[in-house]
Parts: sequence; structure tokens; C-alpha cells
Amino acid sequence: MAAKTGVDLSKVRNIGIMAHIDAGKTTTTERILYYTGMSYKIGEVHDGAATTDWMEQEQERGITITSAAVTCKWPVEDVEHTINIIDTPGHVDFTVEVERSLRVLDGAVTVFDGVAGVEPQSETVWRQADRYGVPRICFVNKLDRTGADFHRCVDMIVTRLNAVPLVMQLPIGAEADFLGVIDLVRMKALVWNAEAKLGEMYNEVEIPEDLLDAAEEARATLIETLSENDDELMEQFLEGEEPSVEQIRAGVRRATLGAKLTPVFCGTAFKNKGVQPLLDAIVRYLPSPLDVEAIEGHKMGDEETVIARKPSEDEPFSGLAFKIMSDPHLGKLTFVRVYSGVLEAGSSVLNSVRNKKERIGKIYRMHANKREEIDRVGAGDIVAVMGLKQTTTGETLADDKHPVVLESMSFPAPVIHVA
Ligand code: GDP
Repeated sequence: MAAKTGVDLSKVRNIGIMAHIDAGKTTTTERILYYTGMSYKIGEVHDGAATTDWMEQEQERGITITSAAVTCKWPVEDVEHTINIIDTPGHVDFTVEVERSLRVLDGAVTVFDGVAGVEPQSETVWRQADRYGVPRICFVNKLDRTGADFHRCVDMIVTRLNAVPLVMQLPIGAEADFLGVIDLVRMKALVWNAEAKLGEMYNEVEIPEDLLDAAEEARATLIETLSENDDELMEQFLEGEEPSVEQIRAGVRRATLGAKLTPVFCGTAFKNKGVQPLLDAIVRYLPSPLDVEAIEGHKMGDEETVIARKPSEDEPFSGLAFKIMSDPHLGKLTFVRVYSGVLEAGSSVLNSVRNKKERIGKIYRMHANKREEIDRVGAGDIVAVMGLKQTTTGETLADDKHPVVLESMSFPAPVIHVA
């Protein structure tokens, strides 16, 4: 059996960012990579330039995301988390590709344009995500634009998507005067200065006097909505007990993982007001690979016999090739989500759809600015692999002594486990 990787899966998030075209998916992703790049001391893991060098170069034009999956790091309460962002095509023409990406991610951020609200493509992708039971959080973007209306967008999440939104923040100011957000869990105002530049952190201050009543009311609604969907909090609610910040967060996480509620955040990716709290929310509320109890596949040549693989390095290796790209320097790269076991560079695996052996060449973790070669990758993680000759998108790779086929014509939905 291959050596373990030592990765703590509970600190990994595999997410997609979904949006109607022009809502700000690219900008939001770029900002995420920017902020995570700033916080991540790349020198510790990589050789080469310090983070700030490339950040400075890239600042003006933004970071271009060319990879099918990109890895970044974000600390929450001083604990570093790994976020793998899987590219989710926004266009309905790529429905099969969207479905395939939904298959390999564990949670998603849906970005809405604060002016246009819920648009047709967001509806389409939302329903696809519903079908796969993908837990989602929402980001109402572009609140700096003329005509932006956070509350209208929240209403549209109800009427157009039939979802139950959980309003986690209120905007401070509007349009050109949009200044920041109120964190309704902690009852703090997070404000940027009016001319906030890329990279600036927000200041945490008391909630402005004129917004206090609205914030208290919104917080009460948040706790009530949560309680209605959560037995633990309901008991407390009925006894008139105020839940703590930790209890509210745990409740939001349970409701999100169970796809009962969808937490809603807001801001502007354009001027960077709101993306840092959104990163915190990704870590706090979206699932880790461990929250998916097992992935189901079937025996080779026998679609009736179901085989389940747990997200553990102790299980035999199984993974799904979800995207093939041509890298200008490396040539053909196959992006693989590992579901179970460990995949090692230089090893041999079985393409269980074609019943053909494949040799794994080098394995890379793709960061926004560079690739990192690694020896092995474990369950729950996403990497790019060189050397695969016969594998195409959607095919399963497996331990040749324990073959399994993860994807057939109709993909089995992942089983979401609610703690
Ligand atoms: P995508 O098609 O969803 O990837 O959208 P983009 O990220 O490419 O954004 C579409 C356009 O909206 C671009 O011109 C962005 O500069 C702009 N944009 C993105 N986010 C914001 C925002 O928060 N505020 C404003 N005013 N414009 C934004």
C-alpha cells in the first residue's frame, strides 16, 4: 500500500464558483487567488519568488485562471485550510461539463450580479447543483453598481430558485457609497475605506447607529430561520436562550451541508469589499471531503453491483479524470479528483472503463502562479497528472487489484452525510 500523505482532509475544501455570465465569477475567483496568495507564504513550500513579487506584477491586470483546478490556502482562526477551486463552465452549452465539474466538487459559491439578481443561467446551474445535492453559499456581487439591490436579489433566490436563503450579512451603504458589510453572526461592521485598493484589509468596527435596528432584526430572522431547520438550535430558541457565535456557525454549517438553507453574503469583487469574509465563509460552511460519506461506483463489467469508496487513504485508490488540458510547457495534463486511497507518481493504475493500465507520470498541484510537483496525493484532493495516454474525460482510474467504475452513463449522485 502507498505511503500516506499526512493531509488533514477536514481542512480541505473542493469548491466551484458558479454564475450567470458577467455576474463576476472570474473577478471573484481572481480576488480569491489574490487574497489567498497574499496570506500564503509560498516560500515555505516552493522555491522561487516570494508571493508579493508575482502579486505586484499581476495586480493591475488580475490573475488569469487558466487551470481546470487551482489550489490556494486560507487561514481561519490561524488554522490553514486548502481550497481547491474547480472551474465550472458558466455557459449552458457546456451542460455535460458543468455536471462533470459538479461531480468532483463538494460545495459551491453562487455569484449573483447585485443589479440583475438571479439570471437564467444561474437558475440552470442551480437546478443541476440541486440534482447533485451540492451545498451552496451565495455571494451577491457588484453592490457598488448603480441599481444594485441586495434585498431584491435575496427575494429572487426565494422566488426563482425555490431556495431558503439565510441572510448572513447586510450591506453598509449602497452603489458608489457601498462601504462594507455587517457580519450578523458577530454583530460587527466590516468596512473598507472608500478608496480601498487591492489587498487592503477591512477594519472591524461597531455597527453604525442608523443600521443597528435593521441589523438586530436581521440577526433575529437569521436565528429563527436557522432554528426552524435545526433541532438543536430550536430547543435553545424555545427556551429563549441566545445561541453563541460558535453555536450559530455550527448550525449554519449543518443547514448548508444538508442543503436545507443557503447562506447569503454580499459585497463587490471589483473593489474587493467582501471577498475576504467570503473566503472565511467557504471554510466555515462548505463541506470537506469527509462530509461526503462515500462515493458509489460499480464493479467493472457489472453495473448492478455497487461498490462504495470512503474518503480515506486506507481504502484502495479510486479517482475520476474530469478534465484534460494541454499545458504549453508540460503537454497533456489530466485533472484527477482522488476519492479514495493514495495515487503515487510513477505508479501504475487501471483505467477501469477501458480496462487498460495507465502509468502515472509526474503529479502537480496547480497554484495560481506556479505548479508544485508532489510525490503522492490522497483521498479528497485534486491534482493534475502527466503521462496518461488512454484516459479521457469522465473515466475512472483505480487500483488494479480493486477496480471500480465511478462514472457510467448516468452519474450516481454523491451521498452527502450530515453530521
Ligand atoms: P464572469 O463572466 O461571471 O466571469 O464575470 P467577470 O468576472 O468577467 O465580470 C464581468 C464584468 O463585470 C467585468 O467587466 C468586471 O470588471 C465587472 N465586475 C465584476 N465584479 C464587479 C463588481 O463587484 N462591481 C462592478 N462594478 N463590476 C464588476
